[in-house]
Amino acid sequence: MLNFDQIPILDHHAHPFLRRAATDDPARFQRWFTESTDPMIHQRYVPSLLVFRTAIRWLSEFLACDPTVEAILAARARFSEAEYTARLFTDVNIGMVLCDYGYGSADAYDHAGMQALLPCPVHPILRLERLAEEMIIAEPTFERMIEAFHARIAAARDQGVVALKSIIAYRTGLQIEAPNRDAAREDFIRLKEIAEQTGRVRLARKGLCDYIVHLALVEAERQALPIQFHTGFGDSDADLRYANPLHLRNVIEAHPAVQLVLLHAGWPFFRELTHLTAIYPNVWMDLSLAVPFATVGIPAMIREILGMAPFHKVLFATDAFTMPEIYWIAARWGRWGLSQALIELIKQGFLTEEEAMQAARDIFWDNAQRLYQIE
Ligand SMILES: [Zn+2]
Repeated sequence: MLNFDQIPILDHHAHPFLRRAATDDPARFQRWFTESTDPMIHQRYVPSLLVFRTAIRWLSEFLACDPTVEAILAARARFSEAEYTARLFTDVNIGMVLCDYGYGSADAYDHAGMQALLPCPVHPILRLERLAEEMIIAEPTFERMIEAFHARIAAARDQGVVALKSIIAYRTGLQIEAPNRDAAREDFIRLKEIAEQTGRVRLARKGLCDYIVHLALVEAERQALPIQFHTGFGDSDADLRYANPLHLRNVIEAHPAVQLVLLHAGWPFFRELTHLTAIYPNVWMDLSLAVPFATVGIPAMIREILGMAPFHKVLFATDAFTMPEIYWIAARWGRWGLSQALIELIKQGFLTEEEAMQAARDIFWDNAQRLYQIE
């Protein structure tokens, strides 16, 4: 039987861990097995999620302990964070991580912290909206804010950043319109008032959101930096109607030289995203988040994607966050789902074993290496 396990994973989209103290009781551990932000879902309904049940079973086998959250937490506490992370990453063979630090929890490790904990190289991704929020707070005028924002993204490649990332789907939606400087300035003035009153700001005004994404598209082209866009499902903050990747058509067509990495298989719009990936050279399709959350639905989804999209433009990632266990679980589901799909294609005579092996190498590592131009 073919074995894809020795192919390492280049995890091209993930997030930092939280300090262990933030996830070391059952409630705080359990909370990260859902995209829901509702405490009732966390407490009452997570235990009946398939993704959670399998996680507990697999982790209890891995740690040789009882299949309970309490036993798993006690077992993991015997290892340092770095030792435990190394054991998990080695087990599922994750060989490199591209990390988006922009999700803003005071408990999250920074880049140096992740470098110290991971047993493999990690490279930073720059999140645009978070950067813009920092600049709104720091800069007195719209012109100064845009100047500062532009200066930071213009230096991204030189500072080791390997991709830009936009969460505009979460803020004002993917139907991005032509840049309008006056509308952007007006939004800045409103947001600056809020920032001055509260010391914080959440950038969710369309004029400014669209404007900074356009600036980033121009800079991405100049530096040959791919841009990752959140598409499809996420937490309840995202209005799923405006997260359909089909809304990006104008951007895709107006920026043919910018490589656009559309995240999360656009789930549930993975057919729409498959189509975009098949017809536009600059669209790439990521499988993360749909893996692991689609669980037993993963092989059928991948089978449909591989039925239509070029194998050279499909990428695997974990989109893991908060705990090393999430990386491990996503990688296990991803390895299982892709091998199920490929083995079925071999059995039915659509792929040779050699072609299937190459497809797995492409999806787990080679495509990301080509796209992000990482040594
Ligand atoms: Zn993510």
